[in-house]
Amino acid sequence: MTHKINHLAIVVPNLDQALHFWRDALGLPLARTEENPEEHVNIAFMEVGTSHIELLEPTEPESGIGKYLDKRGPGMHHVCIEVDDIAAMMNRLLEHGIELINDSPKTRKNDGIQYCFIHPRSTSGVLVELYELPS
Ligand code: ZN
Repeated sequence: MTHKINHLAIVVPNLDQALHFWRDALGLPLARTEENPEEHVNIAFMEVGTSHIELLEPTEPESGIGKYLDKRGPGMHHVCIEVDDIAAMMNRLLEHGIELINDSPKTRKNDGIQYCFIHPRSTSGVLVELYELPS
């Protein structure tokens, strides 16, 4: 079964401005920052216990996150939940009539995490990501 929230992702226009709240005022530790040129996004990883809040700053207005920010403004982008067996979970969701964005799990090159996204139409409006961590 599912275990925990791995991360919440929030789209922000400016990382430094966002850190003023999340790090300076609220006091969450900044675990690290990362540039992702492929996705045209800069990311700040804030620690909340063993989970993270990821602040996503688009670096290119025409990118996926850039368009999201333009259309919806800053705010919650997705929630990511860890599961033991992502393929089995995807089958289970399909059996329940849930609409998936990916047909099969994708694998990240850098850390081997398998992931997929569930369409907000099936989740009361929240984009949901699933993670299966490498064993
Ligand atoms: Zn994510």
